[in-house]
Amino acid sequence: MLQPDSGRPDHGLAKCCNPIPGDPITGYITRGRGVSVHRADCPNVLQGSDSDLSRMIEVSWDIGLDKDYTVEIEIICNDKVGVLQELLAVPSEMKLNISSVNANPNRSNKTSTVRMSLSVQNAAQVQQVMTKLRRLKDVFSVARAMGSTGN
Ligand SMILES: [Zn+2]
Repeated sequence: MLQPDSGRPDHGLAKCCNPIPGDPITGYITRGRGVSVHRADCPNVLQGSDSDLSRMIEVSWDIGLDKDYTVEIEIICNDKVGVLQELLAVPSEMKLNISSVNANPNRSNKTSTVRMSLSVQNAAQVQQVMTKLRRLKDVFSVARAMGSTGN
């Protein structure tokens, strides 16, 4: 059982996949650093060799954490006026804090790749944001980025 408030900051949450409460997770025993916690779909865990698999343990979230986690969402959308505002309105309506936004237009096909970092408390909020973003007519795809770029 993972004990999130046992004093160790972040309890060894892996930076590569940035798990947040509610995500399916896997514990991985690291030399000297205890257990590092990855998302179950993290490529770093999935690509482990057989001997690595023996170092994987089951962990679970203790519910009721009072902590914010930063997640990054990658959105591919039409590159036109007003779309970014529509995207930003979604987390705002849910009262989620947007910590950074980065839009990269792809001139060749008139789309834009938008990376948005949000402060959330659990995976359910991320799912909700992503579902709402997908409903926007100018949005082509929405995915959760594997790592976090900020801080
Ligand atoms: Zn990972």
